Amino acid sequence: MKLKRQKKTKKNMQIYGHSFGFRQPYQFILDGNFIHVARLTGKKLEETLPAFIGAETRLMTTYCVYAELKKLGPDFRPTAAYAKKLEKRRCTHNPAVSAAECIKEIIGDTNKNNYCAASQDVELRRHLGKIPGIPLVYINKSVIILEPPSKASLERSKQLEIQKVQPDLPKKRKLEEEPQAPRKKKKEPNPLSVKKKKPKAAPANPKADKVTPKQEDHETTKEETAPKRKRKRKPKTESGADE
Ligand SMILES: [Zn+2]
Repeated sequence: MKLKRQKKTKKNMQIYGHSFGFRQPYQFILDGNFIHVARLTGKKLEETLPAFIGAETRLMTTYCVYAELKKLGPDFRPTAAYAKKLEKRRCTHNPAVSAAECIKEIIGDTNKNNYCAASQDVELRRHLGKIPGIPLVYINKSVIILEPPSKASLERSKQLEIQKVQPDLPKKRKLEEEPQAPRKKKKEPNPLSVKKKKPKAAPANPKADKVTPKQEDHETTKEETAPKRKRKRKPKTESGADE
């Protein structure tokens, strides 16, 4: 189980590396609950997290997370003390806001700084899952788990992979096609087709155009020809029926 999970974790982290440019050390923003649960399950995060990810990590939190932990009372004092020692990402909150709000702001709409988030807050993880390219980590039954890349991450990853391949294709196509095939084809058939079309079209079109002013003549010819045909057919059927 452990090996399988490690392989999956490595594969998934590679997606973030390939598609979104994540590089070691991976920057993990930890929220208060994650730090607390890690402590309760006896984890030294600075050892456990890099071992779990299989890569170097840089653990950090925010002042708002620390402020929230301080408010939670004596049970959270050791957790708050741990958070106090962690590197802090700067935020604009004064007074402090909730950990979730603060982490949302620091990560932003695009996670341009390639943060990973470690949180026990399901709502926060769900929100961050909508933003492509955020590795999400939590602890379940004392086991650290990396969420599989979210739909948003996978879709964006596909788009980016396509973009990586496509810019080469149109260039090649243009180079191959433009000088060779279309120019020769265009030069040869155009004069011929124009010459052929003109004589064929000439008798029909100019007449129609010229006739429009002389509509009366044209109508009379139609009226004259039509009754002749009718006369030929009608007598045959009538005579046949009578006889
Ligand atoms: Zn903040």
